[in-house]
Amino acid sequence: MVPIKIALVGLGKIARDEHIPALRANEAFELAAVASPHHKLDGLPNFGDLAALIAGAPDVTAVALCTPPQVRYDIARQALQAGLHVLLEKPPGVTVSEVVALTEIARQKGATLFASWHSRHARAVEPARAWLKERRIRRITVTWKEDVRVWHPGQAWIWKAGGLGVFDPGINALSILTRIIPGAWLLKEADLSFPQNCATPIAASLSLEAGGIPAQVDLDFLQTGPQTWSIDIETESGRLELSMGGKDLTLDGQVVSTPPSSEYPALYAHFAELVHNHRSDVDIAPLQLVADAFLCGRRTEVAAFVE
Ligand code: NAP
Repeated sequence: MVPIKIALVGLGKIARDEHIPALRANEAFELAAVASPHHKLDGLPNFGDLAALIAGAPDVTAVALCTPPQVRYDIARQALQAGLHVLLEKPPGVTVSEVVALTEIARQKGATLFASWHSRHARAVEPARAWLKERRIRRITVTWKEDVRVWHPGQAWIWKAGGLGVFDPGINALSILTRIIPGAWLLKEADLSFPQNCATPIAASLSLEAGGIPAQVDLDFLQTGPQTWSIDIETESGRLELSMGGKDLTLDGQVVSTPPSSEYPALYAHFAELVHNHRSDVDIAPLQLVADAFLCGRRTEVAAFVE
């Protein structure tokens, strides 16, 4: 099959850490160009923005948008209107309405739109989903606590409106939760802690519910020492723990071996399938829960964040 000529837009941490290696290892794609305001990738045509890329690399048929979320909608709209297939890094937009609008443009243009959620491709997520399908769930506890200074050094955009703050990692937990337990999720209550010098929260506590099942979600961006990205689920017939962001699975205290797959290769395999089958995949459920937390959450001001 002829590889899909793809360009990366936004050459930052995630583009270098994950997208470039995953694309180079996948024969379904040919990484053909990059558009980023300042950074360049050796050996490829580099452009300052998407308009220059569209003009200078007309054989590119797909783009992966790895920019901060605040600029993603305008770039995605421009790409779809040019007929390009679009992979959105998470979160797919800074508002739900942006993502709905992009879905409609993709439909009109006959282009693929993939609102990717990389954590859904973590290796233990599908085995967890299958195990839960057969069981009645009693309660869920999500603990997503990491040190922002370690994982997001210098990323000032996280603290600006639309940058999501602690929901930048926290939305990964919500993307797993809404995958392993499908159906309608409700946000019941939220408490959000905003540093006095930031527009986005540094910690959050959410009460969610799905079909009467309660879920408590605790997010913290100031966790030093051991880092925790785990989902604990108590059922009427056993206990499940997903840890390390969906990589590790424990059932009733016993470690379960999971398929040796990794997130971004699986994510790109799915994107290739969507493009070849002329389909889109846009699930806004995780973003909707975050938006609801901002809508109804109680706000507390906490100490300024200084990196
Ligand atoms: P980052 O390191 O700050 O990189 C973002 C890059 O976007 C910057 O290097 C910048 O390029 C580029 N950019 C900014 N405005 C642009 C524009 N108008 N057009 C084209 N490029 C533009 O951020 P990141 O950590 O890679 O995160 C990017 C996205 O990926 C976020 O939504 C994040 O949630 C998601 N993500 C991140 C991680 C992670 O571990 N870091 C993991 C999964 C998902 P220049 O430097 O050239 O100006």
